[in-house]
Amino acid sequence: MFVRRRTPPPGFEPGSRARQARILGRAILRRLVCFYDFRFGFLMFSINLLFRGSFLKLVASDLWRIYDGERKLVKCMVCERKCVIADKKTGFCWNYMNIDNKLYDIGYGLLSAIEPRPIEIKPLFHYYPNSWALTFSGWGCNFRCPWCQNYHLSWEKPLVNKSIKLEPSELVRKAIELKQQGLCASFNEPSIHISYLLDVGEEAKKHNLYLSIVTNGYMTIYSLKKLLETGYTGFSIDIKGCPETYRKFLGGYAEVIYRNARYILDRNGYVEMVYLVIPKVNDWRECYQWIIDKHLEYLGEDIPLHINRYYPMYKYNEPPTPIEELLEIYREARKAGIEYVYIGNILDETFQDTKCPKCGKLLIKRRGYRVVEWNITRDNRCPRCNHKISIYGKPFIN
Ligand code: SF4
Repeated sequence: MFVRRRTPPPGFEPGSRARQARILGRAILRRLVCFYDFRFGFLMFSINLLFRGSFLKLVASDLWRIYDGERKLVKCMVCERKCVIADKKTGFCWNYMNIDNKLYDIGYGLLSAIEPRPIEIKPLFHYYPNSWALTFSGWGCNFRCPWCQNYHLSWEKPLVNKSIKLEPSELVRKAIELKQQGLCASFNEPSIHISYLLDVGEEAKKHNLYLSIVTNGYMTIYSLKKLLETGYTGFSIDIKGCPETYRKFLGGYAEVIYRNARYILDRNGYVEMVYLVIPKVNDWRECYQWIIDKHLEYLGEDIPLHINRYYPMYKYNEPPTPIEELLEIYREARKAGIEYVYIGNILDETFQDTKCPKCGKLLIKRRGYRVVEWNITRDNRCPRCNHKISIYGKPFIN
């Protein structure tokens, strides 16, 4: 039944039509913003369904579980957050939605960037050296690092209107057209796009492209197993600090990263570790000592460690890491026995060179993320002392 109001609502006094329209407009906008914020998941699903039905993807059944059928709760098993997701809601990374007790990837094929990049920039220094990888990314992340260097992608939801929409086969075709040797999922956290990564992998294998990712390493073993089985071999993995760093800033567990890195190495994958040294987050002695100890305990001396300088970014404003601090960690890592230690994000590029761990000969000189000198034998040995040098895949040296 329609009931006529006797008194107009506040702001709707007669005689002011323009004002009424303005107020009504503002009210509608407020409602929309509220709806967007609190019902984002459902809105995303509707928009995707409307415009990109074919790009919605049901997540593989071994990467989620029914948590409580009656209350319509599912548990995502893609990463170690293991979000329990209510009906029509998304998990922490905004990419997975529970629709009627099933888990859907709602960011499938919605890319935030595509760009050919040298593999050295990942950094992966010993993996297909001097090659190019078509690098791609989506939206969102399973961590919220206040110092995020790619916050404009990682702190964003996967919206259709701002994305580059590409089927896996289209992405692979682009890589071939651009004469790339491989593919690399990077910029935001790739493992939260596992459905897309697996489909891209299947396509890429047909064309002999290598598959690599730059990751925070927080995926479950279930996801990791699938990535490895699909043919992902190159993993540049962030270690964000010691257990205290993960507890205080990320709500996670540091040991998971080393467990996963070991799992990759045991299955013929390749790993390089990246440690962004951030003042007051992960730069004190016990913290870096823990990282060095775990590196040697889980991975071994021939797995490279990249020590990178931090610069203020996004919500974190401490001044850049002092160079002396980076040098101290570098010396400690070398002294402890890690054979390939690099310092990145500083002007002095000599810390990007590879020297023979046994005799000190300069083996690979890198400038501007390109190999400019290559002094390693065909069977990956130091030409002076014959020490075996860790190289994964074919080098692309002229
Ligand atoms: S992948 Fe996303 S939804 Fe799934 S557990 Fe991780 S953060 Fe949660």
